[in-house]
Amino acid sequence: MPSDSALRVVWIYPDLLSTYGDQGNVLVLEQRARKRSMTVETIHVRSSDPVPESGDIYLIGGGEDRPQILAAQRLRKDGGLHRAIARGAAMLAVCAGYQIMGSTFGGEEGQPVDGIGLLDIASTRGPARAVGELVAEVDTSLNLPTLTGFENHMGVTRLGPGVKPLSRTLAGIGNGDGFEGCFAGHVVGTYLHGPALARNPALADLLLGWATGGSLAPIDDTWYDRLRKERLDAVMSR
Ligand code: GLN
Repeated sequence: MPSDSALRVVWIYPDLLSTYGDQGNVLVLEQRARKRSMTVETIHVRSSDPVPESGDIYLIGGGEDRPQILAAQRLRKDGGLHRAIARGAAMLAVCAGYQIMGSTFGGEEGQPVDGIGLLDIASTRGPARAVGELVAEVDTSLNLPTLTGFENHMGVTRLGPGVKPLSRTLAGIGNGDGFEGCFAGHVVGTYLHGPALARNPALADLLLGWATGGSLAPIDDTWYDRLRKERLDAVMSR
């Protein structure tokens, strides 16, 4: 059982949605929390298990079309994630996990599949696979540096009035309309792999700040900064 003072990180469905290295997001969150002397308890929730409602930060990753459909069905039936988000838990949803958060997304034949309705977005199959580096400027209200990451998806995502675009794309496709990702409350959706939080530690700190409700001590980001610079230079010099 998690102790009351621990930060609870919940990694959803590693058996279905862990194809693209997004589990690295869990590691980065754990590491950045521990460097701030927080106790972290990570719960890996397999798709056969109930989603605990008492988590502080929920993470869900990308995956292929069929596991994505299964994940959406199970999350909807389970309801634990809905209850966690309703009581203010933070969440980072990546790619297939991002699409699942919406009302609908495209299945393996492009057929519409029901999402779980936690974000006011709808996804469909796009005209071509979006593969490559993504660079995007974040909505100024979030006060984050430029996002960098890697994308690999067929889906395009339309945002409704209940969410704000996370960022404006400078390179890459993202949602398919000049924007990348979205956010609402403490929920962030994005197409960024990399994994996203290793490429963008400020995004990890945004989630940690939401979850802890406090300001976070600065930490040495030399290695993160090197990775960011290398990736951003590689894309922006093209
Ligand atoms: N299956 C989804 C798509 O192709 C998500 C892919 C992914 O998670 N990388 O759009």
